[in-house]
Amino acid sequence: MNSNDSKPRIAFLGLGLMGAGMARRLLRAGFPLTVFNRDAAKARSFAAEGARIAATPREAATGVNIIISMLADDIASRNVWLGEKGALAGAQTGTVLIESSTVTMVWVKELHAAANPRGCEMLDAPVTGSKPQAEAGELCFLVGGESATLEKVRPALAVMSRAIVHLGPVGSGALLKIVNNFMCGVQAAALAEAVGMIERGGLDRAKALDVLATGAPGSPLVKNFSGRMTARDYTPLFKLRLMAKDLGYARQEAANVKMNLATAEGALRLYDKAIAAGLGDQDISSIVEQFRNG
Ligand code: NAP
Repeated sequence: MNSNDSKPRIAFLGLGLMGAGMARRLLRAGFPLTVFNRDAAKARSFAAEGARIAATPREAATGVNIIISMLADDIASRNVWLGEKGALAGAQTGTVLIESSTVTMVWVKELHAAANPRGCEMLDAPVTGSKPQAEAGELCFLVGGESATLEKVRPALAVMSRAIVHLGPVGSGALLKIVNNFMCGVQAAALAEAVGMIERGGLDRAKALDVLATGAPGSPLVKNFSGRMTARDYTPLFKLRLMAKDLGYARQEAANVKMNLATAEGALRLYDKAIAAGLGDQDISSIVEQFRNG
């Protein structure tokens, strides 16, 4: 008997910048894997690596123990889980659904409510870390849901991550992920404005950025992004339009607790301007371009 026969069968839905790396970690760890991606071309290379390719989310979900999705936003997630030929319709009783996309609490709770009558358990488990961490199995999962459900899928999450943080009931992971990205989005926007001031003010950019990166403002994000902004390397690790999406979700979640996020509002205007300039599919560090002189 093959030792992989004892491993749970997994369906992975969404092979974008993040999903592709995560799915490969599962394959290389020996989990029997079925993959689905809307654009089927992105799924093809996974066949040679041992995955089964499904033509629809429903087909991918059929006969598996765990279904993981890593999709752009609420709309994509709804289509893939609940749409015509959606994954939930193919899920068998006892299957654990894991929503790892950055989506709203409202949607995660709706999906949970839809999963229950089918006898499926569900976790929201969005991640921190980006494309390199997805490829290296060094993500951090922010988990909402029952502890017992998490224990059932922990070995699968472990091969994709350096940490798994259980935060509370369904929706808790989604909320913290949005808070996390709200802070990242504002920091990246502030750094872009700072780079604009440094360049237009005629300072030595390398020296000035080194002071910021090694001083009080020097978060991991500032250290990483100042290099990308200097090199003008906008090969996407995290697409700018997805950060705009997350700031919009942060605004929604804050309104639900009667707060107005003034810093998110200001940052979102800068992301919207960058999207209007055609930078939506570039890396978020390209937000700096609007502050450059030509
Ligand atoms: P991505 O490269 O743009 O991939 C998005 C995925 O969603 C693709 O598989 C895409 O399919 C699918 N999709 C989009 N709209 C769809 C729709 N209407 N119906 C069905 N499928 C749809 O994005 P990513 O960077 O992998 O991000 C995935 C999720 O992780 C997002 O929620 C993002 O906010 C979050 N996240 C990203 C990072 C990062 O650094 N990149 C880090 C943490 C979390 P197609 O290939 O057919 O377009």
